[in-house]
Amino acid sequence: PYDVLVVGGGPAGAAAAIYAARKGIRTGVVAERFGGQVSDTMAIENFISVKATDGPKLVAGLEQHVLDYDVDLMKTQKAVRLEKKDLVEVELENGAILKSKSVILATGARWREMNVPGEQEYRNKGVAYCPHCDGPLFKGKKTAVIGGGNSGIEAAIDLAGIVEHVTVLEFSDTLRADDVLVKKAQSLPNVTIIKNAMTTEVLGDGQRVIGLKYTDRLTDESHLVDVAGIFVQIGLVPNSEFLRDTLELTNRGEVVVDAHGRTSMEGVFAAGDVTTAPYKQIIISMGSGANAALGAFDYLIRN
Ligand code: FAD
Repeated sequence: PYDVLVVGGGPAGAAAAIYAARKGIRTGVVAERFGGQVSDTMAIENFISVKATDGPKLVAGLEQHVLDYDVDLMKTQKAVRLEKKDLVEVELENGAILKSKSVILATGARWREMNVPGEQEYRNKGVAYCPHCDGPLFKGKKTAVIGGGNSGIEAAIDLAGIVEHVTVLEFSDTLRADDVLVKKAQSLPNVTIIKNAMTTEVLGDGQRVIGLKYTDRLTDESHLVDVAGIFVQIGLVPNSEFLRDTLELTNRGEVVVDAHGRTSMEGVFAAGDVTTAPYKQIIISMGSGANAALGAFDYLIRN
């Protein structure tokens, strides 16, 4: 059996594997898609000490660093079940069962998409999902935020300080964000909030986003908004479906962890975007992966 089996190969999983392997214990990594969300990222300008890089470069660096150590890296393998027996068992989609004294879950999350024409075509060309990451790319330009929940209104307030103007489009007739955020957004001169707005299309010139189309759900009229950037903020979904009924999750599906990265199952730790960690970023995921690996090591030496 492994001492530490990491499920997930994004920044959290890679950091956890390196920290575990450096303790000289038997370490494995199972990853459906090594690199995780970083593989889908173009410009990365907030990975501290590296002024600018891109996703593929960072992923290559993660893999090289992991393979510098004696780590069993099992790529393109998906975990479908977790169970605690004497050891912790992880079943893969291909039927194999891996056994380990401890497990670190680092399966990340995915942004919910609008599923409208143009969204995929202009992803990273104006369609963005992370205001902390991509906000500065739209400095002085017009942008839209899709979604009027907490993350959408937070994004609008954040972007208002950087971009020329922000239009928030909310599908329903009410904003679901906290009152204090809504009041703050409404007080900003360069934020416009439109409710009952169903986004129907992302418009581009072949190279970049130039606007979007939405339908007013009350009048059924179609409208155009000129924007260079569209931030989709309609939910971040944790990749935790296979853990339902096994571990304590929040109602949004996030794995509940404590300060040591411990989950509700003995010997099972979690790190990164799949957890209750409030902010989802590369550097934060790496820190939490390291933290969970140290938590797992501490568990192993006591058991
Ligand atoms: P992920 O990166 O989501 O990795 C999860 C890993 O688990 C993957 O390897 C996945 O294949 C694997 N996995 C999932 N389910 C299973 C399963 N059942 N079995 C086996 N493996 C599984 N952050 C920044 O700090 N700066 C940026 O500039 C930035 N830009 C971004 C741009 C985009 C387009 C996106 C989508 C995100 C961006 N982020 C950025 C956020 C950042 O990428 C994430 O916070 C970070 O990747 C989370 O790391 P993670 O390891 O927790 O999860």
